[in-house]
Amino acid sequence: AKHAGGGRWTWYDPIMDERADTDARLGADLRRAIARDELFLVYQPIVELPSGRPAGLEALVRWRHPEHGMISPAQFIPLAERDGQIIEVGRWVLATAMRQIADWQREYGADAPRKVSVNVSARQLNEPGFPDEVAELLATIGLDPAKLVIEVTETAVLGTGAALDVVRRLDELGLKIALDDFGTGQSSLSLLVDTPVSWLKVDKSFVDGVTSDSPQAVILDGLIGITRGLRIQAVAEGVETAEQAERLHRAGYRFAQGYHFARPMPASDVALLLDGPRQR
Ligand code: C2E
Ligand code: CA
Ligand code: CA
Ligand code: CA
Repeated sequence: AKHAGGGRWTWYDPIMDERADTDARLGADLRRAIARDELFLVYQPIVELPSGRPAGLEALVRWRHPEHGMISPAQFIPLAERDGQIIEVGRWVLATAMRQIADWQREYGADAPRKVSVNVSARQLNEPGFPDEVAELLATIGLDPAKLVIEVTETAVLGTGAALDVVRRLDELGLKIALDDFGTGQSSLSLLVDTPVSWLKVDKSFVDGVTSDSPQAVILDGLIGITRGLRIQAVAEGVETAEQAERLHRAGYRFAQGYHFARPMPASDVALLLDGPRQR
């Protein structure tokens, strides 16, 4: 055992040590990933219930590491958040998604995806220059801001007053704000009042319990009433079965996302989805 400060004893943990090591190495690799074209975006449909028709897409980043293969964002995004690289990764994600929306718009016009959501991290939200960066991208790319949804977590927004300010300025630019992973962070219903939220993404952990007689099911039912009253659109995340989709629809959910409908897919497959109805 090693003696830690404050009179507490902690055990030396070789696994933790290894993790710090792996993190440092991955961090160094990530620094080169953008330049080497190793990052790419996939898009998961957000669908309307009960038809399953796509109402929008969520952009999700992927990293194809030259030696380790695919690395999950659940692994490298928290790492990038810790070492600050998320600013640059986030910039790349946003610019890439915005160019993609504009491309679809040009190619498919009225049939193009109506909205694309992009995840924005706590660090990005705490950059006071972030809204100006977004405004500049919108102007350069020539994109209608109403096409873009920014997904933020409760914890990120509640972190500091600066983040709340940034969210308000994004709203003023004409973008829509989605509150992501709702119910898992430091949830505060006052956030729904204080921030210009258009979408509420109810976390998968609640959806998992929807078909049973569970507290999660009760909360899912209750949230629908709240969002309706506030004119916020609720999206149920992580829907994996037809039974869940059916139960959510009955509870009043109009939008859902999950493997039951579609997995995240490369942009080229989204194009097929858009071409689909025309070929019939
Ligand atoms: P998230 O924003 O909550 O994204 C939803 C995650 O759930 C995605 O995982 C998606 O692939 C997965 N998912 C969708 N439907 C289902 C389902 O039916 N079952 C299950 N088990 N999972 C489902 P992914 O792509 O691995 O991303 C994980 C997290 O990494 C995201 O959670 C988000 O927090 C973060 N992330 C991903 N891309 C970005 C990004 O571009 N920027 C930032 N800041 N964070 C990102
Ligand atoms: Ca998200
Ligand atoms: Ca989520
Ligand atoms: Ca999540």
